[in-house]
Amino acid sequence: MTAALVAFLRAQFDEDDAVARAADAELSTVFTRIATFDPEMAADERHIMRHRPARAHYEVVAKRLMLDEALASRHHVSADQYETCPRATMADGLDARQQAALNALNDEHRQEDGREPACWDSCGRDARVRRTLELLALPYVDHPDYMQALSADQA
Ligand SMILES: [Zn+2]
Repeated sequence: MTAALVAFLRAQFDEDDAVARAADAELSTVFTRIATFDPEMAADERHIMRHRPARAHYEVVAKRLMLDEALASRHHVSADQYETCPRATMADGLDARQQAALNALNDEHRQEDGREPACWDSCGRDARVRRTLELLALPYVDHPDYMQALSADQA
């Protein structure tokens, strides 16, 4: 459901990290020292200093962890399949019997409604994950693949 956006984000994070790691770390350290002692530095220089390679790397590390944490979010599971989010799986804690019962219930709903059962509003897992991915993707709004990644998973 979010595979294209996840792939897009991981590619951007990898590229950001590769650019940061390729930058001259020694030069960055010198610039940081200068920035610390020069309050008269131009705004552009201060901006560049604040986004030195080490910081860029740690921002990528944080974004990767945020992405992993969002994806690890689970659907609501109950002992009663009628109270379990239709999108729940064994990864959310269902055992094989519960998964089979939920699959049967979802099949009934597909036949009745003619569409794929969605994550309930009361569960909210899919909406939370989607929102987190959209926010993580926002800095890449001018990337040529941004819109495609954002819309690929909407269908
Ligand atoms: Zn759910």
